Parts: sequence; structure tokens; C-alpha cells
Amino acid sequence: MRSLETLSGGQWVTTGEWLPVHDPADLRTPVAQVPALGAADVTRIYDHAAAGFDVWRRTSPFDRARVLFETARLLRERADGIAADVVAENGKTFKEASGEVQKAADFFEYYAGIARDGYGTLVHDARPDTRTSFHGEPIGVVLAITPWNDPLLTPARKLAPALAAGNAVVLKPASETPLSGLLLARALHDAGLPAGVLGVVTGRVGRISDALTGDPRIAAVTFTGSNAVGEGLRRSLADRNVRFQGELGGKNATVVLADADLGKAVGALLVASFGQTGQRCTATSRVLVERSVYREFTDLLLAAVAALRIGPGGEDTTAVGPLSSSGHRDGVLADIARAVKEGATVLAGGGVPEGEAHAHGCYVVPTVLGDVTREMAIWREEVFGPVVVVRPVDGLDEAVEEVNDSDYGLAAALFTRDLAAAHRFAEAADCGQIAVNTTTSGWDVHHPFGGFRDSGSAFKEQGGEALRFYTRVKTVAFHFGP
Ligand code: NAP
Repeated sequence: MRSLETLSGGQWVTTGEWLPVHDPADLRTPVAQVPALGAADVTRIYDHAAAGFDVWRRTSPFDRARVLFETARLLRERADGIAADVVAENGKTFKEASGEVQKAADFFEYYAGIARDGYGTLVHDARPDTRTSFHGEPIGVVLAITPWNDPLLTPARKLAPALAAGNAVVLKPASETPLSGLLLARALHDAGLPAGVLGVVTGRVGRISDALTGDPRIAAVTFTGSNAVGEGLRRSLADRNVRFQGELGGKNATVVLADADLGKAVGALLVASFGQTGQRCTATSRVLVERSVYREFTDLLLAAVAALRIGPGGEDTTAVGPLSSSGHRDGVLADIARAVKEGATVLAGGGVPEGEAHAHGCYVVPTVLGDVTREMAIWREEVFGPVVVVRPVDGLDEAVEEVNDSDYGLAAALFTRDLAAAHRFAEAADCGQIAVNTTTSGWDVHHPFGGFRDSGSAFKEQGGEALRFYTRVKTVAFHFGP
């Protein structure tokens, strides 16, 4: 079994205690192990990060950009090996993992480019002979906490802008998928990132959470994960006046109006609902179909879902890989069982696949549920798996009302040929990401990304918007008169 070391103060270190990493397609043998850090190891990483910040904030933006460009180049050069590890620890298909590596590299190229610009504006000053400007400067040591569903992309989405702006970062990848974060750290280290600017905390969060989130040197926390953890963090950080960015859950809806290209809508839903086995915060989990085409659309969707091939992510023929862990699979199955108990009808899937090929993996058959009411848990609560509900609606107004009938507000999509309906939808849907005739997922690195209400926080990720979180604004007035 492979043992990976973690990055602390520019050194690759172990502690003697290990955390096993399992392949969700076959749980029998761990695929690798990573160090299980203790509280003192975590504090040491913050010591290094504070020193690293002092170096990196004063490093020329052009040199910072060179490190980020070289990181992107190394990620592309190592793409196949990294993608294989993403598959091994997460279960997604090799094609999905390869896309993830390329997009992670895109993040570093994009922010390397804008690192050179600087961020500032010259403003008038009412005082004579006075020139005033404001500009962004780095905020300090940023803690980035990431989940298992995009184990390379989510760290890249956070690290690229944070480092471009001149911050130091402590990365805490999910314990189920630490390999990708370590491979990203390896690329940054090999690209010439100075010692301490990045440290990676691998380990059981129960043992280290106080050291991880309580360190007084943390200037900001960027978190992607569950609402339960994110909301707890937000509350505790608010008391300490530490800046918090949260990318949390979603219960995203796609609306299909009667005039839509139904085939195109079905194709988009296969990607948005079942891609990455439904384990995307932007996955469509509610489908609202105009009543006059409900039967026709549902038949098309069910035929397409039946053709999806389930299997290990490493096999070329696989369209839908396993869920990330046995615990998560059991949670998804429990959500389906609860929906059925509350009155939903299973139109497709609903359980685990049969046969020896799937016996040791965390599989759930792509599932479509009908007869779902707005009182049911399956309508409101995030499943984060290959499960969608379909519901008939009477027109756009009712569809919008149902899209917004959620505490979440991450993404929504509409399929229609009616331009006016598309504009009304974009205005009325109370979500941070709106798609028309395309998927709720799949946003590019330069598209500002983030949810409204319980899905997010005030700060968007991606694009130039991300720099608002990773910089603080200083205003400077120069008087040059007598
Ligand atoms: P999670 O349980 O909240 O874990 C996320 C991260 O938080 C992991 O690294 C985890 O570490 C860490 N963590 C857990 N408890 C912590 C604590 N007390 N203090 C500090 N860190 C702690 O979420 P998940 O189950 O991995 O991810 C699935 C969720 O992420 C879903 O709700 C999904 O919607 C959301 N998500 C949102 C977006 C978005 O952009 N909106 C994107 C992707 C995923 P351990 O692994 O060691 O427990």
C-alpha cells in the first residue's frame, strides 16, 4: 500500500499514525494511507504558515504568477496519474476525474493571469492637491476546508485565488479523499512555492478540530461542505470576527416547459442529476415538468436512466460510479426508503445493483421518484446521490414558486424555447446560479460561483469575485500640496 506524506513548512512529513484511504468501488483493501496529524502538528503548520505569509505577501506578483503557472503545467503533465488517484479515492469515472484535473489547472492559469494585475481604483478627493486610491491586500493565513466530492477541484478553486492574492493557506481536505489535495500540494511545492505558504492537515477532525479552527492566526476560513458543519463554523468564527465563506448544500431544481426540446432536457439531466453519481452541490435533484408533457418527458427520462451503466470509475464503459463511502450509500438508501414510506413511488432504481461485480462497492442504482409532495423530506432535504424527483406543474409561475420552495438557493435551470419565459425565470428564481437550456452544474473557473440563502454566504468563489474574499481593502490619501 502506498503511504503519502503531508506538507508542513516546506517538508514532506509523517507522524507514525496513519489514516487509511479506501476505494469506494471495492472496499476490501485500502488503496493508500496518509498521516493522521495530532493537535501539535496542526499548530506547527500554522507557525509555518504565519512565517510563509510574511515571505509570500512580499513576493512580487509576477513571481507568484510564475509559481501558479508552473503548478498548472505540472498538473497537466501529471494528469493521468492524478486522475487515477481521484478515481481510486472518490469513485467518479476516469473521464470525470480527468476533467477535474484540467479544470484545476485552469484555476491556476486563470489566477496566475490576474495575479499580475493588482486590484485597486483611483478616486477623487474633495481636499485640494490630494490623490486617494484604494487597493486590495492579502488578509493573512486562510484555512480552506474541503469535502470529498471534488477532492482536487475544490482545493484548487480556493488555493489559486488565495495564493494569487498573496495569502498563506492551510488546507484541510476531507478524510475520505486526502490524496488529491496532497497531489495538488506536491505540484505547488515542485513549482517553487516557498516553505510554509501552504500546509496540509490530514487527520481525524474529532482529534484536531480545536487546533484546526481555533488558531488565533487564522484570518479567514473558506469552507465547502455540509450545512451542519458550515453553520457551526460560521457561528463560532463570527464571535472571533474571522471572515467566513461557506459553500454549502443545494436542492436544485430544473424546470421543463411544454415547448422545450425534451430530448435536450433529458440529456442535460443525465449529466446534472447522475454525473458524479449525483454528488455535486449543483446536481439537479428536483425536476418540475409542465403537466401537458409530463408523461412524455418522464418516459424519455426513464428510458435514458435505464441505459446508464453502473460500475467502477476506472472502467471505460461506466457512466455512473459508486458513492463515496458505505456510510454515504446507506444514508442515500435511507433517504429513498423514507420517501417511499411517506408516499413516493419508485419509477426507476431505488436500491443497490445486484451481482458480484458490485458486491464490494458503494453502489446505488440511479433513482427516479414520482408522486412526491412538498411536505416530504425528499422534496426539501439534500440527498447528495443519484436520486431525482419528478413533479408535474401548471405553467411557469407555479414552477418558479416550487423552485423557490427550499431553504437552499444554489442553482436552478429552465428548458424552454420562449425567450420571455427564460428572462422571467432568470429574474425570479432565488438562486445564485441560473441556467437556461443547459445544466445546473458545470460552471467555468471565471464564472462567479456560489449560492444564496442556506446554500452560501456573502462571498462568491471563482472569477474576479473570489478576490473580494481573499483580500482586504486599504484606502490611501496622499496630499501633495503645500
Ligand atoms: P462535511 O461533513 O461538512 O465535511 C466537509 C469538510 O469539513 C471535511 O474536510 C471534514 O473533515 C470537515 N469537517 C467536518 N467536521 C468539522 C469540524 N467540526 N471542524 C472543521 N472541519 C470539519 O461535508 P461532506 O459530507 O464532506 O460534503 C458534502 C456536502 O458538501 C454536501 O452538503 C454538499 O452539498 C456540500 N458541497 C457544497 C458545494 C458548494 O459549492 N456549495 C460543493 C461541494 C459540496 P473530515 O472529512 O475529516 O470529517
